[in-house]
Amino acid sequence: GSRFEGVTSGPPDPYYELLEAFEADTSDTKVNLWVRAYRVELQPFVLNVVKKAEKLMLEKGEDKEYLPMDGLAEFNKVTAELLFGANNPVIQEGRVATVQALSGTGALHLAAAFIHGNFPNAKALISSPTWSNHKTIFDDAKVPYSEYRHYDPISKQLDFDGMIADIKAAPHGSFVLLHGCAHNPTGMDPTPDQWGKIADIIQEKNHIPFFDVAYQGFASGNLDADAYAVRLFVERGLELLVAQSYGKNLGLYGERIGAINIVCSSSETAVRVKSQLKWLIRPEYSNPPLHGARIVANVVGDPALFNEWKQEVELISRRLKSLRQRLFESLSCKDRSGRDWSFIVKENGIFSLIGLNKAQIDNMRNKWHVYMIKDGRMSLGGLSLSQCEYLADAIRDSFH
Ligand code: PMP
Repeated sequence: GSRFEGVTSGPPDPYYELLEAFEADTSDTKVNLWVRAYRVELQPFVLNVVKKAEKLMLEKGEDKEYLPMDGLAEFNKVTAELLFGANNPVIQEGRVATVQALSGTGALHLAAAFIHGNFPNAKALISSPTWSNHKTIFDDAKVPYSEYRHYDPISKQLDFDGMIADIKAAPHGSFVLLHGCAHNPTGMDPTPDQWGKIADIIQEKNHIPFFDVAYQGFASGNLDADAYAVRLFVERGLELLVAQSYGKNLGLYGERIGAINIVCSSSETAVRVKSQLKWLIRPEYSNPPLHGARIVANVVGDPALFNEWKQEVELISRRLKSLRQRLFESLSCKDRSGRDWSFIVKENGIFSLIGLNKAQIDNMRNKWHVYMIKDGRMSLGGLSLSQCEYLADAIRDSFH
């Protein structure tokens, strides 16, 4: 017998199940609404600036020796500048502990482990709904969490009053996880005015904001505008955490490049905080991978490439908006149910919660070959303009 006889199976990965079913489906009208990457007309997409940066890197002939525990210094510098703005006093005063991480997931995980180790009694507060991995990450790090209302599925709007009430009701000093922009899965972000009120409550309750910024640039098309919330909270003088990912906005999914930034009230504290992050990294993977960090350093650190990237991000955001517009028009023009589909064009980023129940999601899949995850989240990243009409027919049919 095997020494591993007693090992039980882990829970099945719902994405993997969908991938297999989708691959096996021979219908030529099948639609992939679960893919987590942004694609262009069904094709995986590599940004031009990434190709250019890689060419430069090859020409330079850089070596492959280890990075320090906290990653590539040039990367850490530019990633904090991209987030906070290069002239932000927190950067100039050396008050940010920035550490390269294994994309957004690794950044969140490092932060959760940091919270567990240094704030053993703290609780986290996460949005309802949220990206499912947030729960897995906090569970794994043994940080207890509860949820705050974020979204009203009936009106398909931000449940702002619920959000404020729940943040207010949480124990003082909770870590409040906020999606910096392009909320996953609802696509609904607070307005600037609402962000101000959220900051008020967080200050009043002495909470610690913990931003997840996985889509900077995808909401408005502008990298600075999408950092509005983070910068507002920093301007208020709050100490906070920010996880960053270059998966989406530079299309570096598989390179696993991101960062965790912890803004502290003094540079001395930032040094100590950074040393704690390094000691979490040491036994886990010792030091992070080079390639993605070099790409980011070359793109964000070079004025010409940085400008070109801004244009590419704007194009992606515009294309996502045109997909939303096409889907909205296709749904509205033939639908006689009186249902208001305008939420689709009001949302930001690549996700939308269309509000289908399980039976309707099954109908989408079995009758129309449209595949989506079971919370009914649509990812527009895997949709082509020419599929919008067909998808609208599938949605209308499934709702009736
Ligand atoms: N946070 C949110 C809200 C996300 O949607 C994602 C990507 N699905 C991530 C973090 C992290 O992704 P990655 O680890 O690929 O950077």
